[in-house]
Amino acid sequence: MVGQTDGRFTDGARGDDCLACGPAAHSLETLLHKYRLVVEHTSNMVVITDAQRRIEYVNPAYSRVTGWGLDEVIGRRPSQLLHGPQTDTEAVQRVRGWLDQGVPVVLAELLNYTKSGQPYWAQLNIQPVHDAQGVLTHFVAIQSDVTQQRAAREALQASERRLAEAQRLARMASFECEGPEQRLWWTPAAADVLGVDEAALPVDLAAHVGGVHPDDRATLEDAYRRMAWREDGYEVEYRLADAQGRARWVRERGYLLPAEGAMPSRLCALLYDISSTKAAQDRMAYLAWYDALTGLANREQLQALLQVRMDTSRQNGRQLAVLFIDLDRFKTINDSLGHHVGDEVLKVCGQRLRTGVRSNDLVARLSGDEFVIVLTDIADAGVVASLGTKILAALSAPMRIEGRELHVSGSLGVGLYPQHGDTVSELMRHADAAMYQAKAQGRNTLVFYTPEMHAHSARRFELESKLRLALPRREFSLHFQPQYRACDRSLVGFEALLRWHTEVDGWVPPDQFIPLAEEAGLIHQIGDWVLDEACRQWRRWAEHGHPGLRVAVNLSAYQLRDPALASRVAAHCERHGLPPDALELELTESVAMHDPRTSIQHMTTLRERGVCWAVDDFGTGYSSLAYLKTLPIERIKLDRAFVNDIEHNPDDRAICAAAIQIAHALGLELVAEGVENEQQLHYLAAQGCDVMQGYHLGRPMPADAALALVCQAIDPAGAPPPALP
Ligand code: C2E
Ligand code: MG
Ligand code: MG
Repeated sequence: MVGQTDGRFTDGARGDDCLACGPAAHSLETLLHKYRLVVEHTSNMVVITDAQRRIEYVNPAYSRVTGWGLDEVIGRRPSQLLHGPQTDTEAVQRVRGWLDQGVPVVLAELLNYTKSGQPYWAQLNIQPVHDAQGVLTHFVAIQSDVTQQRAAREALQASERRLAEAQRLARMASFECEGPEQRLWWTPAAADVLGVDEAALPVDLAAHVGGVHPDDRATLEDAYRRMAWREDGYEVEYRLADAQGRARWVRERGYLLPAEGAMPSRLCALLYDISSTKAAQDRMAYLAWYDALTGLANREQLQALLQVRMDTSRQNGRQLAVLFIDLDRFKTINDSLGHHVGDEVLKVCGQRLRTGVRSNDLVARLSGDEFVIVLTDIADAGVVASLGTKILAALSAPMRIEGRELHVSGSLGVGLYPQHGDTVSELMRHADAAMYQAKAQGRNTLVFYTPEMHAHSARRFELESKLRLALPRREFSLHFQPQYRACDRSLVGFEALLRWHTEVDGWVPPDQFIPLAEEAGLIHQIGDWVLDEACRQWRRWAEHGHPGLRVAVNLSAYQLRDPALASRVAAHCERHGLPPDALELELTESVAMHDPRTSIQHMTTLRERGVCWAVDDFGTGYSSLAYLKTLPIERIKLDRAFVNDIEHNPDDRAICAAAIQIAHALGLELVAEGVENEQQLHYLAAQGCDVMQGYHLGRPMPADAALALVCQAIDPAGAPPPALP
């Protein structure tokens, strides 16, 4: 029998000492009856075992739930009857350990099995019972079936887990704030979303506000105040520091939950991590005003600030200067060394410009290789000129990029305010025109705007627009100038020279439009057309029985840098059936010198396919003989400037003679250009010149005239050429 004393159960009722009821009120039998009523009618399972945990008694509720009758269980251990495959053995060991030490088991949960093998969750309370001497005599276990509560609890936990996971995925945390202490209850994902340790989550509202970036704190405090006052929601954005001290942008949206039953009204807030959205917004705002590559101001910022600075200058009666800088031959670097090298060059140039001026001067990159500097408060043009010269010097210092040393220079045009324009666009246009003038004057120079330039740049612009239409309008043609062998005056071939005829301007000289085509990026298409047309004409000569003639084509520096040049040339030769050695490509020596390594590479590729190379305008550049030796060339064309004056100038005579000897010493042929009279021809022939070309021998002529000359020169009887298919 079971009694209770001082919170500890003891074995056997001790008559008068029974606390539950006194003998005066109840007889022992009445008391026993009441105990039985309790034990037999409770919905909890009651098990009484001896000290060795052998069952002495189970109540009807036990039999009802487990299916085991009293008779079947007496003398057996509960574990033999109730435990099954999923029972947590570690939990069982723990319970046994406590019981062995005489410690009560409170609210332990175990998965038990009924007699028919049905699992159920049991919540256990087991009390050891001692006799008057303190010896353990029994255990009284009260079990209840908590399967349903447990399922409900697990469902709740799973739903909380899902909510936490959803919040974590949405980069969202939330808290509830209640009570006068304004304690905060955070959702599980909060620490992760805010990037802090669990322990660092603020415990109350004051700590939360204290953790917000000082600049944003007032906004949040204000939102809380307004919400308490007006009782409607709020939304604020602020920065919090994460565990590494980095700022994390958070958007907090909160509202008041009204009091409900025992729950007082409380603040509920959702926090979103919006750092990436903010970063994207910042980047967009940055890109709207800055050039991403160099970090300098972009065109939009330049235009806005130039306007402001012009206004200020007008009010102060001060001068302002716009320096327009364009890098020289930047396109060549980009085309030949790749865009990544080009980008590095632009970055270095941007830095050099930035360090070359005062911190409040504006430096911007307009596009490509164009930069603009705005200098304010300048005393006079002299100051601008000396600063501009320093800037050009800084730009042209050698730079090392990807292990190579590169040399870049710039052309600089200056427009002054107010003299050269009183609107942003006019001042910029005029500085731009001055820059073009600087380019025309040989690059790496500085030029101030003058009104005549306006007309010049307008004409240039007009010409460029027309040049774009020249190919589709079929305004180009090739003229052919004959070349003769000096020893016997036999025709060896022709140089193809490009001609452009427009309805309005008439003939435009190649010296004018070729540089324009190069800068406008049209030279590749035009050069391709020239190659195709030259090969087509050679084909006509061959079809008239003269396949031994050579056709020479001038190449621009830009074409030489084109990695596809070799395949283009090969395609033209193939289309018109030209053996590659019938084609000669002319390069001016300065072109071949500009980037010798790349030049040699491209020239060698074509040479290996049989194409011949000639160095044009020899003597006007800086070719060293040692360098000439490294080029895969067959011919040198001596510039006509040396031939012009042979009769009168002994120096020129000496130069011509030396050039011929040098060519021969290097195993090359020498072609003399610009032979205009018989005396020049005689002198050159006497010195051993190999080939001659000039007005005296034949002017550049249209294709049909060249064909007629071919037939006549080789067949003096002058039989008319057969009709072409
Ligand atoms: P270049 O390659 O040195 O061509 C020779 C130039 O000298 C031609 O001028 C020719 O008409 C001129 N010339 C020939 N014999 C005499 C003479 O006895 N006396 C004088 N005073 N001049 C003579 P043009 O046709 O005006 O060409 C000028 C330059 O334009 C060429 O110089 C060449 O560098 C360039 N060019 C011409 N056609 C093309 C082309 O298809 N592509 C490229 N990239 N450049 C070309
Ligand atoms: Mg030439
Ligand atoms: Mg020439």
